[in-house]
Amino acid sequence: MIVIDNVKTLQELLDKTITEKRGFVPTMGALHQGHISLVQASVKNDPRTVVSIFVNPTQFNDPKDLEKYPRNLDSDLKLLESVLREDDIVFTPSYKDLYSNEQPYDINLKGLDSVMEGKYRPGHFEGVIRVVKLLFEIVKPQRAYFGKKDFQQLSIMRKLVSELDLNIKIIACPTQREDNGLAMSSRNEHLSPTSRSDAASIYANLKKHCAIATVGDLTKVKSKLIKTINSIDGFSVEYFEIVDDISLKSIRSASDIDSYQRYYGCIAVNVGDIRLIDNTEFSFLFLKG
Ligand code: AMP
Repeated sequence: MIVIDNVKTLQELLDKTITEKRGFVPTMGALHQGHISLVQASVKNDPRTVVSIFVNPTQFNDPKDLEKYPRNLDSDLKLLESVLREDDIVFTPSYKDLYSNEQPYDINLKGLDSVMEGKYRPGHFEGVIRVVKLLFEIVKPQRAYFGKKDFQQLSIMRKLVSELDLNIKIIACPTQREDNGLAMSSRNEHLSPTSRSDAASIYANLKKHCAIATVGDLTKVKSKLIKTINSIDGFSVEYFEIVDDISLKSIRSASDIDSYQRYYGCIAVNVGDIRLIDNTEFSFLFLKG
């Protein structure tokens, strides 16, 4: 693999192979098997893979969160070395170099950025869009890989590509989980062993309550899930919403449900000062006999 830390060198290299079909995996580093599964999918599909490692300051609404975000470039590179090929690229730009390429733009996300993560992390998606748009312009991939773990981000990436009419296929990759079901996340490292073990109940309860929601009263199911998670020592649910992946509109009652639509139970939980998100896909398809 080739490690490149500046935009000019990357562009010079990529310009020489302008017609190649390349896959792109944007990351913020502190890599785990979740990230690696995206890289492996690209290595399987694309003649060349570009992985970026960049902790993007503009997407952190909380400066303390940015400060404590884990950074392990050496171990990230070691991990990537085990999956990338000789001509694949790891791009590790600096803030100044990357953002000096930014051009003004106007994207209407039609409210996708104002719910759930967008509501509780104001400005987050604006920052995500800024950095991904910049990286897309530099890397010019045919395919870009994102994890289903960041469900709302995935919907927003699809919107970004369609609004800007970019010829990039967004590939959604399954959420990788720890043995106990907890979604892998760079933030898990900051959990105490007890919280990490307790955090398994987030996904277990998410699945259980979304299954009950298909036959039960939605409001009751939602408050039951929130109560169950909140009863764990140090856990506090920030939001739990059931949405579709196009409008991200929350369904509140049975009359909002389209039985042929896929829905997603999406949750954010604060465990002390560590914020965890997860989601599960399901449908309300009622088989009428
Ligand atoms: P991040 O470094 O957190 O910005 O994540 C980079 C990419 O990895 C995003 O597309 C995430 O959705 C994806 N990702 C993070 N955790 C997981 C996971 N547990 N399973 C699959 N993809 C993940």
